[in-house]
Amino acid sequence: MYSLKEIYKIGNGPSSSHTMGPKNAALYFLQKYPNCNKFIVYLYGSLALTGKGHLTDAILIDTLPNCQIIFDYKTETKHPNTLKIRGYLNDELVKEVVFYSIGGGNIVIEGEQNAKLRDIYPLNTFNAIKEHLKEKNMTLVEYVNSYEYLDNYFIEVIEVMHKALISGISKTGVLPGKLKVKRKARELYFAKSLTKLNNDADKRKIMAYAYGVAEENASGSEVVTAPTCGACGVMPAVIFYLREKYNTTIKQEIDGLKIAGIIGNIVATNASISGAYAGCQAEVGTASSMAASYAAYILNGDLETIERAAEIALEHNLGLTCDPVEGYVQIPCIERNALGALRAIDSALLALYLNPKDAKISFDKVVSTMLDTGLSLPHSLKETSEGGLAKTFKEDENEN
Ligand code: SF4
Repeated sequence: MYSLKEIYKIGNGPSSSHTMGPKNAALYFLQKYPNCNKFIVYLYGSLALTGKGHLTDAILIDTLPNCQIIFDYKTETKHPNTLKIRGYLNDELVKEVVFYSIGGGNIVIEGEQNAKLRDIYPLNTFNAIKEHLKEKNMTLVEYVNSYEYLDNYFIEVIEVMHKALISGISKTGVLPGKLKVKRKARELYFAKSLTKLNNDADKRKIMAYAYGVAEENASGSEVVTAPTCGACGVMPAVIFYLREKYNTTIKQEIDGLKIAGIIGNIVATNASISGAYAGCQAEVGTASSMAASYAAYILNGDLETIERAAEIALEHNLGLTCDPVEGYVQIPCIERNALGALRAIDSALLALYLNPKDAKISFDKVVSTMLDTGLSLPHSLKETSEGGLAKTFKEDENEN
């Protein structure tokens, strides 16, 4: 498995696979072929179908000088997020490179291994890690520390998450794009409780936090992927809610990020964290699973409870489709972040009460089920905006 830094990337929204990944591809190309002065970028699959709403064209034009974008909706490619960059010196073709944007801002060059990334962790499944920890009498945090030093980077991660949250709940107005979606985080945060349910205020706060960060992402601000831009509101909502509730220390938060990072990394390694590849279960589902493991850790759950919390959260996101309206990471994404955060807390709570020994389904099993389910989902429900809510929304618009 790669470094946990790959799960927590700091960058600008709204999409790790549609903005961060293509930007990284463009930066790679520029560095490798610095003599090019003109570019044509071809976008395929989901990048073509939802690239406008995800600002893929805007980020590429911003990164590559003298750049033309061609949206190719027809050509079939191996990976759903494929782009081809052609670099020219005046009118002479210098080089053509095909990239796959595989989620979380990572790219793979066609025909090559991911050159930039190297395996840091030798074990790829939760079961294997669990066995190793028992054998060595180690904790999961000690396991992470034995392979990489992350504390300083994670302090920065927490700061960026917090900044996005504060900024998100301070702003009013509408989000960029033609949907004219109203920002709602501030309204939620300051709303008076409308019900007598005793945790109404707590839940409203968690949702407001998730909205705040997801709205910042939708407007192209700086966020932390955890594990993707589209799902970036889930982890901060849980982290800062628990900070207020339990006075968590920075050390606890850093260690909690390590645990949640291992969960996200296992999903990224054995299944996918890309909505275009496996639907929203891979994005918000994974974020919710990571946040559930974080909450279980903060609430003093042991390793089995942490696994159970992560398993429950992912299991009950299975089948979640990716159908962003008009390709914007707004509807259903923002609301989905709020629900993903609530589900994370509920999953941790359920895991704490259940006896882990009664668990019949392991975290690894749910991860492989998620991949299987994702591969079975129709193309129209995997970040193409051709099915689901994206389709019915368009039909409604056409009728009106
Ligand atoms: S629906 Fe989910 S996976 Fe799809 S763009 Fe929105 S957050 Fe990402």
